[in-house]
Amino acid sequence: MAGSRYAYVRNFELPDPVLPNTYMLVRIDGKGFHRFSNDHNFTKPNDGKALELMNEAARFVMNDLRPEITLAFGESDEYSFLLRPSCTLYKRRSSKLVTHIVSLFTSAYVFNWSKYMDCSLQYPPSFDGRLVIYPSQKEVKDYFAWRQVDTHINNLYNTTFWALVLQGNQTEREAHETLKGTVSSDKNEILYNRFQVNYDKLPAMFRKGTTLAWDARPEKLNEGEGAQEKKPEKVKARLRTLHVDIIGSHFWSESSKQKRE
Ligand code: ATP
Ligand code: ATP
Ligand code: MG
Ligand code: MG
Ligand code: MG
Ligand code: MG
Repeated sequence: MAGSRYAYVRNFELPDPVLPNTYMLVRIDGKGFHRFSNDHNFTKPNDGKALELMNEAARFVMNDLRPEITLAFGESDEYSFLLRPSCTLYKRRSSKLVTHIVSLFTSAYVFNWSKYMDCSLQYPPSFDGRLVIYPSQKEVKDYFAWRQVDTHINNLYNTTFWALVLQGNQTEREAHETLKGTVSSDKNEILYNRFQVNYDKLPAMFRKGTTLAWDARPEKLNEGEGAQEKKPEKVKARLRTLHVDIIGSHFWSESSKQKRE
């Protein structure tokens, strides 16, 4: 099709391809969720249903872009998606990849809202996104370790903070004061001695965040259900929702059966 005399403006669009054969990591984060969570009466410090809604939206993204996203990790109002190095989606154009993932996630979050949340949505939530490239598995593992350490630090702080406010009758300012300069063991002690809370017994989803990974092991077929005919390569990997340690080698050696390349 011949271009109009206006078509030259297209030349102002700059190419933004991502380096081939590198790990692309897209992290999305809720915009203003401190306020959004208050406006929608999220339970403090952790609203389990709101986290499950995040997980559902992330699973939708992974299934929709299957098999490009090999791993995802979520906590609070954020989710990280790892794309395999061989991904050629959108010719690896950075803006296309980020906007598509943010848009899919956001619409899935809104679409599934009433399935998880009791109150009605007061206004449309939004998420931002960024793409970072990592050259090797080392940085990828360290990236996920970084996010899980963040989950732990925030959750321990928030759990202690809200115990002081909700059970200890401190104001939010007083609670922040109480926690100033404390280390992890101090917070564990406050929780245990003053509120009889054993931090390690809190739900794993709160303490370890949520990891979404494909399970390469084929599903067990029932006898007489065409088990013979079904070839292993035809069996679809299942998407698993996990709340486990991803820091350290155990998780990665287990899941290396499911190739990330
Ligand atoms: P920004 O727009 O800069 O990201 P923000 O208000 O979203 O600002 P974040 O640092 O992203 O700030 O933190 C998200 C906040 O949302 C948390 O501090 C917490 O108050 C709230 N929040 C998110 N998810 C939950 C949840 N499941 N339960 C309770 N509170 C939550
Ligand atoms: P891509 O994912 O590459 O953008 P696409 O299918 O979205 O592919 P576009 O070039 O963006 O293709 O064109 C959008 C198409 O959607 C139009 O060609 C038209 O067929 C359809 N479409 C969009 N809006 C309307 C509308 N209001 N009424 C009828 N058809 C529409
Ligand atoms: Mg942010
Ligand atoms: Mg946010
Ligand atoms: Mg956040
Ligand atoms: Mg289009």
